[in-house]
Amino acid sequence: MNRRGFVAAAGLAGTASLLAACRRQVAGPAECATGGEQSAAIEWKMVTAWPRDFPGLGTGANRLAEYIGRLSNGRLTVKVYGGNELVPPFEVFDAVERGTVEMGHSTSYYWKGKVPAAQFFCTTPFGLTAQEINGWLYYGGGWPLWREAYAPFGILPFPAGNSGVQMAGWFSREIKSLDDLVGLKMRIPGLGGEVLERAGATPTTIPASELFTALQTGTIDATEWVGPYNDLALGLFRAADYYYYPGWQETGSVIEALVNRQAFEALPPDLQDVVEIACQAVNMDVLSDFTVRNAEALRTLEEEHGVQVRALPADVLRELQRLTWETLDEMAAGDELFARIYESYRAYYDSVKAWSRIAEQQILDQRVG
Ligand code: CA
Repeated sequence: MNRRGFVAAAGLAGTASLLAACRRQVAGPAECATGGEQSAAIEWKMVTAWPRDFPGLGTGANRLAEYIGRLSNGRLTVKVYGGNELVPPFEVFDAVERGTVEMGHSTSYYWKGKVPAAQFFCTTPFGLTAQEINGWLYYGGGWPLWREAYAPFGILPFPAGNSGVQMAGWFSREIKSLDDLVGLKMRIPGLGGEVLERAGATPTTIPASELFTALQTGTIDATEWVGPYNDLALGLFRAADYYYYPGWQETGSVIEALVNRQAFEALPPDLQDVVEIACQAVNMDVLSDFTVRNAEALRTLEEEHGVQVRALPADVLRELQRLTWETLDEMAAGDELFARIYESYRAYYDSVKAWSRIAEQQILDQRVG
């Protein structure tokens, strides 16, 4: 969004939140008249699961902090920390839970060891697209379930970015059949990893900062990360020859903002609105960034670096999809919360699938030239 557009949106948001604050009888008349600028500035810390300023993800976290500062007129400022600056990437959730920081920027499938059902709020293999999952989260019952899933940890989740459809990843050898997945050591987190394990591979989860070396040294045979924009930045094309699509394992991954509940509830209501609206703004912002940059980076990878872009075979994708539903059914059997969230997700998936099939899917299939 250009600055003029953002300021217009921010002006509306600020007016709305000020009215909300007054309606809630929290602010006194003087504050309602002035927007409460007299309050002392509140300073928050946000830890992230990404390297500092990492394209799309780290820059998304930066924009979220910037939006909160601008929308609040400087009354709430957020200092952003890259992965490992305050805590390692996979300790973002713990840091927000403990309250040592007020915010985190990460993605929910990293926390599957704590809450298996959290994975639905990032992505499922062969699942919802970015637009579809926003429908579920904002208007289809998904977000309340997400809040319930994180409630025991004193954390409030907010959608705060989306990668769009990802790539299947970088492979040091060709994938011509299901047999080629057997014994494959691949960095692939979340449900995609569980599904790939059922296909005979050995999934592992390692952070972005270690991917290139792991792939180049043969510690792993393959890795997925995100898509052309991010993968170009990591230089993964120098460590493996084959770049496969589609990103069956991540079809529209939600990036989350985590907020410590006590810190959030200590904010005046208008600043609570600022946090929520800034997250919603950055949710669209990150997806837009990924969309334009992925297209540019794909061209760079193919034309400047000679990357071989390949489609996964149809029978491999069919089997991975069968294993996906099998995995989800089994996980739901022993986990009440997982089962309830899965039921909501699956009902929405079936509903929106019928619409998308005659809407986006038809338009995309009609494209020629
Ligand atoms: Ca990924």
